[in-house]
Amino acid sequence: MKWSEICIHTTEEAIEPITNILYEAGAGGVVIEDSHDLQKEWPQGNGEVYSLDPADYPAEGVNVKAYLPVNSFLGETVAEIKQSINNLLLYEIDLGENRLTFSEHNEEEWATAWKKYYKPVTAGRHFVITPTWVDYHRESEKRQVIELDPGMAFGTGTHPTTVLCLEALERYMPRGAKVLDVGTGTGVLSIGAAKLGAGEVLAVDLDQVAVQSARLNVKLNKVQDIVEVRQNNLVDTIEPGFDVIVGNLLAELVIRLVKEGASRIMRPDGLLIVSGIIKTKKDQVVRALTASGFHVFDWPESGDWVALIAKKEP
Ligand code: SAH
Repeated sequence: MKWSEICIHTTEEAIEPITNILYEAGAGGVVIEDSHDLQKEWPQGNGEVYSLDPADYPAEGVNVKAYLPVNSFLGETVAEIKQSINNLLLYEIDLGENRLTFSEHNEEEWATAWKKYYKPVTAGRHFVITPTWVDYHRESEKRQVIELDPGMAFGTGTHPTTVLCLEALERYMPRGAKVLDVGTGTGVLSIGAAKLGAGEVLAVDLDQVAVQSARLNVKLNKVQDIVEVRQNNLVDTIEPGFDVIVGNLLAELVIRLVKEGASRIMRPDGLLIVSGIIKTKKDQVVRALTASGFHVFDWPESGDWVALIAKKEP
């Protein structure tokens, strides 16, 4: 199949909204080339994996590249993308140069093109999350490796909201715990919990594509004896008995999670770890947790995001 690469030269603040627009337009993968990445310190220990080639990066600003199948809709798709990006100006987002360019690629080229930019990253005190195609050498590292094949849909498992959950699991999850991971995506939190010594993990996601991706990653990480993956809406029909519930969902879904019975399926001393909450909505979510019988005792932050750690009131 032929793919057309569409490249938008823009600013850091526009990366996230433009990425969303491209995925909504049907892009099969988005690559970010940020001139700042060349100055960033990548973790050491495995030199060849982390060396970035300046030729791949813009001199300043950011290139957001996406790959669209070449078909008869391509013209309209591109027109819509342009329109949606321009509309971001109405939200006071600085688009920088906002220059759009095109080139054609074949399938193999784009598969390697986006993989090139996805690097191993450390998370919390115990983990390094690495794409499955990188031969990561762990001799010099005491860290646990979480190997992920992110597939097309769920990012890289290294979003700040995910890292907040991994850190909370490291800190608060008792060994041998029975854990529920709501909205598992790639399965990253379930795999993390299993590697930290959880006794049993149930991973659920509403999206069947996520379920497939999580199942694959659970096997890649050899934790299939501990983690079961199932398609499910939040906690619907789930049997009680969990020591820990972890959910990296947005604020609105976290509120639904507690209203729709997180407490029902939790053991008396149970622990709730919820993330994906934008700071401005923290108070609203804390109120919902309190109203559902949880006591929030920690609220770690990262950038604009906050996670809430709560105990079920006895
Ligand atoms: N846990 C992963 C993914 C978080 S993204 C991580 O931390 O990286 C949130 C996930 O919640 C998505 O995979 C989405 O499909 C899932 N989700 C959204 N609504 C849901 C619902 N009602 N029930 C279960 N999962 C849901």
